[in-house]
Amino acid sequence: MSHLLSKSKYIRGLQCDRALWLDVFNPRLARYSAEQMRRFDRGREFEYTFKDTFPDGIDISAELKRNVDAYPGLTAMYLDKEEEVDLFEAGFLYDDVLVLADVVHKDHDGFLDIYEVKSGNVLSETYKRDAALQHYVISHCRSINRFCVVYNGADGVNGSNGFSVVDLTEELAAQHDEISRNIAAMKIILQGTNEPDTPTGQHCVTPYECPYQAHCRSGVRQLALF
Ligand code: SF4
Repeated sequence: MSHLLSKSKYIRGLQCDRALWLDVFNPRLARYSAEQMRRFDRGREFEYTFKDTFPDGIDISAELKRNVDAYPGLTAMYLDKEEEVDLFEAGFLYDDVLVLADVVHKDHDGFLDIYEVKSGNVLSETYKRDAALQHYVISHCRSINRFCVVYNGADGVNGSNGFSVVDLTEELAAQHDEISRNIAAMKIILQGTNEPDTPTGQHCVTPYECPYQAHCRSGVRQLALF
């Protein structure tokens, strides 16, 4: 089954309805700076370092590559087995939202420990929002034991090998109603055939540098190609 929203699109939609619409209908207009690309690379390196602490982990993305809509099916196949398993990039789909969890550990009883890995050195609100969407989707698919954010800071509870690991399970579960409302609002935005005419402003750089700034300043608006 195909998805409408992903984690990155949801986060984009929280920042700006126009950015969400562009991400879905014309992502080629996005322009990322060299610094943003370096930050993505640093994030991936930190994530790989944490994944190395699960030597038997099975990487769903290595098996299915860009066929992300197949991730939930293969993930379910591994999770339905009786034995314990560690999965990387495990896919879950609920409410038309597909999320890929960085690291999932399933215990003998079928409960999941989930680790969302962030390379920043502060546990920011944006990290929590990101994790909250994942908790919303995954908890409607499987039983979660705990949902942790792993980051590169010294202000959290120190886990193994110098990673800061913070269990946010209760805090994230309390946000489900709000997330459900956000998703419903985003679905309405994506029914629009015209690019929203949201003006530029402070939201274009906070909390993230929007990659559509050059496009929006050009004054040209797009039509959706369904
Ligand atoms: S540049 Fe600003 S107005 Fe345009 S899509 Fe991005 S956040 Fe929205």
